[in-house]
Amino acid sequence: MSLRVATRRSFERLAPYQAPVEGRAGKLRLDFNENTEGCPPGVLRALRRLTREQVAMYPEYQAATRRLARFFRVRPEELLLTNGVDDALRLMVDTFVEEGTGVLLAEPTFTMYRFYAALAGAQVLALRYDRAMRFPLDEALHVLRRGAAAPRLLFIANPNNPTGTLVAPGALERILKAASRTLVVVDEAYFEFSGVTVLPWIRRHERLVVLRTFSKAAGLAGLRLGCLFANRRLAGVLRTACSPFNVNSVALVAAEAVLGDPGFVRRYVRQVTRSRAELQKALERLGIRAYPSAANFVLADFGGRAPELLRGLERRGILLRDRPADLGRRGPVRITVGTRAQTRRLIRELEKLW
Ligand SMILES: *Cc1c(COP(=O)(O)O)cnc(C)c1O
Repeated sequence: MSLRVATRRSFERLAPYQAPVEGRAGKLRLDFNENTEGCPPGVLRALRRLTREQVAMYPEYQAATRRLARFFRVRPEELLLTNGVDDALRLMVDTFVEEGTGVLLAEPTFTMYRFYAALAGAQVLALRYDRAMRFPLDEALHVLRRGAAAPRLLFIANPNNPTGTLVAPGALERILKAASRTLVVVDEAYFEFSGVTVLPWIRRHERLVVLRTFSKAAGLAGLRLGCLFANRRLAGVLRTACSPFNVNSVALVAAEAVLGDPGFVRRYVRQVTRSRAELQKALERLGIRAYPSAANFVLADFGGRAPELLRGLERRGILLRDRPADLGRRGPVRITVGTRAQTRRLIRELEKLW
C-alpha cells in the first residue's frame, strides 16, 4: 500500500524500524547500562509531593536550570535542558545538518549518532576503532583539516559505548584544535563512572558541546533528562531551535532530588567499579576476551557461541546486549555492570553455561 505522501528522501536509506526491547521488568537488566538498583529513594518521595497544579501546568525551566547550572559549575546561559541526550543529538542535527552535510563519527559507537544524521540526509563519514578499540585519532584529525570540506559535526562518546574506552584529554585537545569548522560533540553519558570530563573547556572552545544524562548513574532513564553544555553564543543558537516544552516537569523534580542526595550516585559508582573488576577477573578466568572499560559496562567476546549463551542467560532471567554489528561478526556482547550481588549472580550463571 502506498502512503501517497512522500517522506524525506533520506528516509528511504534508513535501516528498517526495530522496536525497542519490551518486557524487561523484573529481570536482571544488564542490557541497557541503566542504574540496575533503581533511582535514588528520594526521587519517589519528591514525586509523591507533586501537586495537581504542578502536573496541570506547562513546565517552567528557569529555577531548575539555575540549580542544575550551579551543580555542574556553569552559567545558566551555558546549559540547555533536553529530553534525554537523544533530544540533544536531534537538536544538534536539526540545527546544523542538511541534505549532504558531512557528519563524522567512529564506529562502533552509540547508534543514535548515525540514526539522527542519516534521518536528516547527512553524509555520514564513519571511521573505525581499531582492533585494540583505540579511537582513530590520526584519521579524524585528517578529516577535520579538510577546510571548507570538513564535516559540520563530530560525535564522540567518552567513554565510548559499547567499547568502554576513553579518548584521552590530550587527544581531545588536538581534535578541538583541528576542528576549525566542525562542532565537536563530546557525549559524557558515563562521566560519573569515568571521572574524565572536558566540561570546563566550553569556555575556551567555542565549537565544543558537552552532553550529560540522568539516564545512567542517576537512575532516571524512564523520565528522560539530559543536559547540553556549550559556550553562551552556541547555546543561544541551539535554544532557538529547541522545542519550548521539551522536558517535562516531573523529570525536573526528580533531578533535583538526585542532586539532593549526591551520596547515592557516589555509592553506586563505587559499587559498580568494584563489580566491574570482579567481572573482568571472572571473564579472564573463563577465557572470555574483554576490553578494559571506564564505564558501567564491559564489552566481551563470547565468540560463535554468543547467541546460545545469551539465550541460556535469558532463560535464567538475565539480559545482556548482543552487539554482532560492532565487530562485523558474531561474538561481541555488552554486559552492564550492576551491584555486586547482581554481578555475582551473572558470573555464577555464566560459569554454569560456559
Ligand atoms: C545511554 C547513552 C545515552 C543516554 O541517552 P538518554 O537519551 O539521555 O537516555 C547517551 N549517550 C550514550 C553514548 C549512551 O550510551
